[in-house]
Amino acid sequence: MEEKEKTPGQLLKEKLCWEIPSIAKEAPEQNAEAQAFCEGYKDFLDKGKTERECVEYAENMLVKAGYAPFDSKKAYKPGDKVYFVNRKKAIIATTFGQRPLTEGSRLNFAHIDSPRLDLKPNPVFEKQDLAYFKTHYYGGIRKYQWTCIPLAMHGVVCKADGSMVNICIGEEPGDPVFVISDLLPHLAAEQNKRTLAEGIKGEELNVIIGSLPFDEKDIKEPVKLLALKLMNDKYGIVEKDFVRAEIEIVPAAKAADVGFDRGLIGAAGQDDRVCAYPALVAEIESKAPLYTTITALVDKEEIGSVGNTGLDSDFILHYIEYLAQNAGVDYKDVCKNALCMSSDVNAALDPTFPSVHDPLNASNIGKGCVVTKYTGARGKGGSNDASAEVMQKIIAMLDEEKVYWQIGELGAVDVGGGGTVAAYVAHMDIDVVDVGVPVLGMHSPFEIVSKLDVYNAYKAYLAFYKH
Ligand code: MN
Ligand code: MN
Repeated sequence: MEEKEKTPGQLLKEKLCWEIPSIAKEAPEQNAEAQAFCEGYKDFLDKGKTERECVEYAENMLVKAGYAPFDSKKAYKPGDKVYFVNRKKAIIATTFGQRPLTEGSRLNFAHIDSPRLDLKPNPVFEKQDLAYFKTHYYGGIRKYQWTCIPLAMHGVVCKADGSMVNICIGEEPGDPVFVISDLLPHLAAEQNKRTLAEGIKGEELNVIIGSLPFDEKDIKEPVKLLALKLMNDKYGIVEKDFVRAEIEIVPAAKAADVGFDRGLIGAAGQDDRVCAYPALVAEIESKAPLYTTITALVDKEEIGSVGNTGLDSDFILHYIEYLAQNAGVDYKDVCKNALCMSSDVNAALDPTFPSVHDPLNASNIGKGCVVTKYTGARGKGGSNDASAEVMQKIIAMLDEEKVYWQIGELGAVDVGGGGTVAAYVAHMDIDVVDVGVPVLGMHSPFEIVSKLDVYNAYKAYLAFYKH
């Protein structure tokens, strides 16, 4: 049958208007590729539940792919692959490009810390014959979401003699899990009067770790004592050791496919491991890039990029200085000619709660990776706000490689807001824009992403390293 001729209005609309397509409708063949890609991603989520675990996982992948530890004195040639670990909590990987560093470089920074509950330095107590850990939440959480779900304990203890103990319990079949209890509805009338934000208060985030007493008459706090004894049997630690520890309480669940069609992934910690994993894979798969790549998976974004493993420290700048020194150039020229993707998630429009977004400018599940020009709160406060020229460069790369991408704002104006590492990257005199994955239920114990979006973030990062 002959196709109907288009009307002038239809033609003009095609020429002038822009609509962001749904990937599944326009390119259904991508589903199989996305499904396959996300099997690796889910394994990364299950094995990397803390920044240290993510660094270990990433280091293994890099070493397997032929990356060598970075030597700050060595001159490298195009195609060489190196990595550098910062204090076990951040990792940088580089593939040396064919063009000199002063002509440009490609930086991709994602973060591997996620909202969670950290143990306090003196966490163990007993009350009414139950033993507990006291926690201090890390990052922005909605506290009520963390009750009544199985929790696992991950982390490290640095003992008095400096030896390290790794802890990971609640993940293997047969492992015990931990939990924060909440009130039954029958007795929650008073609690129900609290605001949602106060539904569970910070000091109520107490994790149950034991209920049986150490078997000895008249000993004080016998349930706490038995819990400490069992931890001592298993890990050789004592109560004072918690002061020298970094222990995180995280959801015990494994990453799962969501929906009959398995189009989504649910898991904790996808902000921002959903960008970190594709960034890492794109780095590894870039064999002979035009420009030198610097892929960094960093810590502490969720609490303001603080500390010397976060991006508000100079550790990346120092790394760039080493690269510049070895190449005999000035790092300042490297920075001002570098181009960076700050790879972080954005808030997808939730059809159940549409009013917090401007639908014209919100990202949507299944429409590809999100290019976020600015984040911030109120009048873009705390944002980077990428320039028109930077937007042009990035969009040209994505379009050329047929990557599905969309735009996003972090909510409607004055509803809330947030930031990413982009502002800290810009501080180094580096051009940067946020490119990430849209997420439903961000910072919850079960964040949701679309596999097609994850796959297109990976394609975006590959495209970036190709140009
Ligand atoms: Mn993030
Ligand atoms: Mn976050």
